[in-house]
Amino acid sequence: MESAEIARRFLRFFEERGHTVVPSASLVAEDPTLLLVNAGMVPFKPYFLGQKKPPFPRAASAQKVVRTLDIDEVGKTTRHASFFQMLGNFSFGDYFKEQALPYAWELLTRSESEGGFGFPEGLLWVTVYHDDDEAFDIWHNKVGIPAERIQRRGLADNYWHMGVPGPGGPCSEIYYDRGVDYGKEGGPVADENRYLEVWNNVFMQFQLSAVRSKVDFDVSGELPAKSVDTGMGLERMAAILQGVDNIYEIDTTYKILDKAAELTKTRYGRNARADVSLRVVADHLRAGVMLVGDGVTPTNEGRGYVLRRMLRRAIRNLRLLGAGEERYMHELASTTIEAMGQQYPELKSDAAHIHTVIDAEETSFLGTLRTGTAIFDAAVEETKRKGAATLAGGQAFQLHDTYGFPIDLTLEMASEQGLQVDEDGFRRLMNEQRDRAKADSAAKKTGNADISVLGELLDRAGKVDFLGYDLTTAEAN
Ligand code: ATP
Ligand code: MG
Ligand code: MG
Ligand code: MG
Repeated sequence: MESAEIARRFLRFFEERGHTVVPSASLVAEDPTLLLVNAGMVPFKPYFLGQKKPPFPRAASAQKVVRTLDIDEVGKTTRHASFFQMLGNFSFGDYFKEQALPYAWELLTRSESEGGFGFPEGLLWVTVYHDDDEAFDIWHNKVGIPAERIQRRGLADNYWHMGVPGPGGPCSEIYYDRGVDYGKEGGPVADENRYLEVWNNVFMQFQLSAVRSKVDFDVSGELPAKSVDTGMGLERMAAILQGVDNIYEIDTTYKILDKAAELTKTRYGRNARADVSLRVVADHLRAGVMLVGDGVTPTNEGRGYVLRRMLRRAIRNLRLLGAGEERYMHELASTTIEAMGQQYPELKSDAAHIHTVIDAEETSFLGTLRTGTAIFDAAVEETKRKGAATLAGGQAFQLHDTYGFPIDLTLEMASEQGLQVDEDGFRRLMNEQRDRAKADSAAKKTGNADISVLGELLDRAGKVDFLGYDLTTAEAN
């Protein structure tokens, strides 16, 4: 089943059950507390909070999502993409648990010929929040799942919130057993690679006032109405339904991976390291094209930096695959636009702009790599000659300051050489430089707006990875 068909089926199922189908919002969040949309519920947040009256009691969507928190996982796990699509059904004070869970079960297990996804019941496992007897009871007695395939989990896994103040509540997740080749028995609690999480049903019930971490937050009260927010991962469904090993091998993404392999004359499936690089290239191209399509451009802060980091990581991984001086991003972007075009036809009319942005980033970064790599190699050689295992903070700073090497690039390249980097030292030098710049601009009264704006952004939107402030975007899960 093609990706586009999975989305169509999901939306049709819920449309037939009284849900209004709402088009995906842009990846660029209107919500000022987020850099990028990281879940299907983001556009509906004001309805959950009771800040706006929902124009419909039930909705369904296929929402574009970027999770920066998962970027480092890309290519290494079988199930994390940086850009993915969340299929969701939503109730705004309409139905609650007793209806949401049977809906989910029905869609997953209904035969393909009758509009469902045809999963065998025996391969599905579910989890509930540890004290949510209600959800347990619905699964067991109403839906008929044997108690041994219902597992209870704590805050870290079965309580959902946005990572910032907002709505939240306990959740119930559905997992598909991929079989013994993927890991050990015992349900999702034992192995989340074998038991692939496909769908999360969140019972939106509480208002969170402060969120310090996934498991440490303050609940300030109940929401005006009990609501439902669900998120099914389209790419994970595609991996199962298309019978492939991981989400980088599904119809859309594999076209990009295959093109990258062809261009760099690499065979996928021969060498573990090259395979990770091919997956990173495919994933980041997809995310990059979708972000540029939504109006993001590469910059040194905020969402522009998320984009820059992904494009540069793709470009670097192409070098690792042996691209040398060749420029492949243009052709890979074309393949991506083509691959995603069935679901997002607007990419085709935006193609010229997407190419301009991505080509320019490739040109500038190849220049950076050309000059910086020689300096980096010299620094590595010196470090190794001294018998040290850590690249000095001053060297990382110089690479950044003079040669435009972002710290994450230095970290990644150093780790490929088996070296650590003195990040504390690097950060100290960065701070000193920032203080100097501040003092300077105060004196000149011109003001270095970028840095103070970034400070505000960090406070508001959580953390962004910016010039070595090695932090991640505030994000759910
Ligand atoms: P995981 O535990 O595997 O990281 P999650 O619990 O963080 O997933 P949720 O926040 O519950 O994920 O998101 C809802 C659904 O979106 C998940 O059930 C999954 O199908 C999908 N999903 C989440 N993260 C990713 C990702 N990085 N790539 C692809 N699909 C994802
Ligand atoms: Mg999870
Ligand atoms: Mg989840
Ligand atoms: Mg996660």
